[in-house]
Amino acid sequence: MAEKSKRKHYDLELPVEIEQYERKIFDLKQLIEISKGLNSTLDYNVLIDSILLTCMGQMQLMKAGIFTKKEISRDVFVLHRNYKGFDLKHSIEYEILPDSPFLRYLENNFRCYELKEIVELVKDDHSFKTLKVIDPDLIVPLKGKGELNGIIILGARINVEGFSQSEKEFLLDIASLAGIAIQNAYLYEMATTDMMTKLKIHHFFQAALIDERERALNSNKPLSVIMIDVDHFKDFNDNYGHTCGDLILMNVARLIMESTRQRDVSARYGGEEFGIILPNTALAEAIEVARRIRVSVENSRINCNDKRLGVTISLGVAQLSPDKDSNSRSLIERADRALYKSKIDGRNRISFLR
Ligand code: GH3
Ligand code: MG
Ligand code: MG
Repeated sequence: MAEKSKRKHYDLELPVEIEQYERKIFDLKQLIEISKGLNSTLDYNVLIDSILLTCMGQMQLMKAGIFTKKEISRDVFVLHRNYKGFDLKHSIEYEILPDSPFLRYLENNFRCYELKEIVELVKDDHSFKTLKVIDPDLIVPLKGKGELNGIIILGARINVEGFSQSEKEFLLDIASLAGIAIQNAYLYEMATTDMMTKLKIHHFFQAALIDERERALNSNKPLSVIMIDVDHFKDFNDNYGHTCGDLILMNVARLIMESTRQRDVSARYGGEEFGIILPNTALAEAIEVARRIRVSVENSRINCNDKRLGVTISLGVAQLSPDKDSNSRSLIERADRALYKSKIDGRNRISFLR
């Protein structure tokens, strides 16, 4: 009873405040859920999607995108290709250069901006040329470890005009969570990526294969592995030098990336050896992927010391067999044996084990 009258007292005297507190509690609960979601993945692409869909869901938006640093070693911000709703050309890279006044301003004035608002505040022809093409309604900066590490762009609200002050504050809260998640994913990416080829490192490949084998067996889906070794690479280095050899390895890695799906795991297995894990892929399909890579390497040339140089590769393919592969190592060994067969049969070819 006492409780009831107390409540009534509040109802009468503080209705607006209570409503505001309730709203705040609701928002904080939402932020906890968002935080859980954003911290549940270190996969960069999954994380980007998760950030964009969170903003779109929370603010009821039709368009969202994010500028992030393109490469581990570069400071250029590029619009991530997972953007939603914006009518843009996929072939164009929308870039914001590292020394731009726009970025400096965001770094020092960490809040949300409408495009026309920031265009009036800062003079930066280059960045605004890019942004005006995209034409977002709101620009939200992301920070990780005190540094600007991304910019969210949002547009086209459903049934609402513009963003209220509290919505902008809520978006900044989401952005501070997203900035930390991006920072973690970025560090994880650095620790698991081979800097020269930009493929995954050996250890990551082994760990991923253990997971993928489990997943394939549990879901009764096929799983294949391709092992690759550059032919006569010692001779290549002896003839043309290590620097040209490195360019060859980078080129082979690029061709592997171009021939595989985002879901596949491509790794630098050793010096001039590569491994690819192909989830949900049966032997025949994996052989087709291997063929594409073999042909593209055979036809590709690099320019080094005024020469056009190329190599060939040998490949081995194996599909996970629940009977034969009691562990992931056994699957790699079988693909390796197939690769060895390609070598003794004359190189520049594909072999497989059933
Ligand atoms: P095979 O066709 O039998 O594979 O012959 P191969 O000469 O490729 O085989 P081997 O394993 O004898 O030699 C591998 C060479 O790869 C030797 C090594 O110098 C070179 N290599 C390994 N890692 C790198 C690298 O990072 N850069 C360069 N340029 N060469 C590398
Ligand atoms: Mg080798
Ligand atoms: Mg070799």
